[in-house]
Amino acid sequence: MVHPSNHSATPSDFIRRIVSADLAETGGRAVTRFPPEPNGYLHIGHAKSMCLNFGVAGETGGLCRLRFDDTNPLKESREFAEAIRDDVRWLGFGWEGEPRHASDYFEEMYGYAHGLIRSGSAYVDSQSAEEIRNTRGTLTRPGKESPWRNRRAEESVDLFARMRSGEFPDGAHVLRARIDMASGNLNLRDPVLYRIRHATHPHTGDAWCIYPTYDFAQVLSDAIEGVTHSLCTLEFEDHRPLYDWILDHTRPPARPRQIEFSRLNLEHTVMSKRRLAQLVEEGHVDGWSDPRMPTLRGMRRRGYPPAAIRDFCERVGITRKASRTEMGLLERCVRDELDRSAPRAMAVLRPLRLVIDNYPEGVIEELDARNHPRDPGAGARKVPFGRELLIEREDFMAEPVPGFRRLAPGREVRLRYGYIVRCESFETDPGTGAVSVVRCTCDPATRGGRAPDGRKVRGTIHWVSADRAEPAVLRLYDRLFGVPEPSGPEDLNQGSLEVVEDARIEPSLAAARPGERFQFERLGYFCRDEDLGFNRTVTLRDGWAGRRGG
Ligand code: ATP
Ligand code: MG
Repeated sequence: MVHPSNHSATPSDFIRRIVSADLAETGGRAVTRFPPEPNGYLHIGHAKSMCLNFGVAGETGGLCRLRFDDTNPLKESREFAEAIRDDVRWLGFGWEGEPRHASDYFEEMYGYAHGLIRSGSAYVDSQSAEEIRNTRGTLTRPGKESPWRNRRAEESVDLFARMRSGEFPDGAHVLRARIDMASGNLNLRDPVLYRIRHATHPHTGDAWCIYPTYDFAQVLSDAIEGVTHSLCTLEFEDHRPLYDWILDHTRPPARPRQIEFSRLNLEHTVMSKRRLAQLVEEGHVDGWSDPRMPTLRGMRRRGYPPAAIRDFCERVGITRKASRTEMGLLERCVRDELDRSAPRAMAVLRPLRLVIDNYPEGVIEELDARNHPRDPGAGARKVPFGRELLIEREDFMAEPVPGFRRLAPGREVRLRYGYIVRCESFETDPGTGAVSVVRCTCDPATRGGRAPDGRKVRGTIHWVSADRAEPAVLRLYDRLFGVPEPSGPEDLNQGSLEVVEDARIEPSLAAARPGERFQFERLGYFCRDEDLGFNRTVTLRDGWAGRRGG
């Protein structure tokens, strides 16, 4: 659980300033909530909302609840609700009390709706969904009043009760607020408050066959729970007049203050659950937890530390400006966190045999390797070294291009934690012509990589022991979409996943547990997956920044 950082006297964004001013005036405490709909898995946009809601409550000594906005039984499930709880905890947040559900308040909401009908502020409309849609009007043209709008209150009360008792099929009637069909705000043109849905609800089972709409349920749930500040994204700004109308006409015990902020959008990905669900359903990705997905599940499997995601949300900040954030910022946060916390290890992606001709056969030396260059507390480990090693294919060039600082005929290179070796010759595969073995000699006086005579060795490369290394599958990722503002699956980056089947890892990595993260020297940060593979979390440097321009 995240402990509220000691956010100083000056609140860092406009919402925190408003909340502080409100609390100074009322002397009360802030009550916020995170209200996901259990119709999919949480994504990084939700993380922004959580960091804000749990953050504001934590910093001001208030409380934040987790409440499932479960008003649409057709799309929601327990599986999603369970996963959401798990993801909220994983991100480092704990909620006040038991998770709540909008459906916990269905009886109270029904009472409020009943009150609206009796006072003439709501009516049962018997038009079809299509008729209602067609008479709503447009931004420039007013809507048309329903023929049932002036139905007597007693008749509506009776129909509403019979809707509840299951007498009518789906779509036969709806309950609508009686506001203004000519309003410039479409949300105020007699919005639907209840609809009939004969469906089993994941939380209330078959207790109800009428369900409140999102707007009616959301504002009343907040009011019933005594939420002081309903923090939501900008698209609900236009709904605020409706929420005010509902609060004015139902008079619940508390009146939350709604403040809108801009949603998080990330380049090269999509964010809405609907579009993420499409990627899953059409098989473009391997489920919601595919490491390329912007879901918290995906990021977890990819190896993103929760602290990095929180750091990212803080750096993005809270404003009212619509924007799209570069993926590079998120990756920077991930790198910063992993540079601090991930132990180092060696793996070779595309192995090339290196034989040290003057090294005794059958001898394996255990060399000391520090787990972290700047953190002695991270300890050290032994890495086996011998006559036959595997190095990265691209660390050798038979005919080195200018600027190449690694191994080439006649050149020296330092083997990380090992010796300085000199390439004497190489062999090629007679079939393909590809280099198959690099033959070297090693200078025994350079154990640990130091040259006692102070001679200059320009390159240092990583390696593993040919005899002792373990095989491993490494998965490398690129942007899920090839363009910054994707419109659909047609913009998917076909090269977003590269599976390297025959990599080799140092033996200490064989014991890595799923979820453990490492820096594979020079290759990037990797996270052990549930299978024996490792997923590349992020490269060591931002390789994308250069590519963006051209
Ligand atoms: P989606 O469009 O992905 O389905 P949603 O808003 O329908 O998102 P909810 O489950 O209703 O998803 O969202 C729960 C909370 O998370 C809401 O308060 C919502 O405003 C917030 N939220 C969702 N997406 C973002 C985002 N991209 N940036 C910030 N907050 C978000
Ligand atoms: Mg929603």
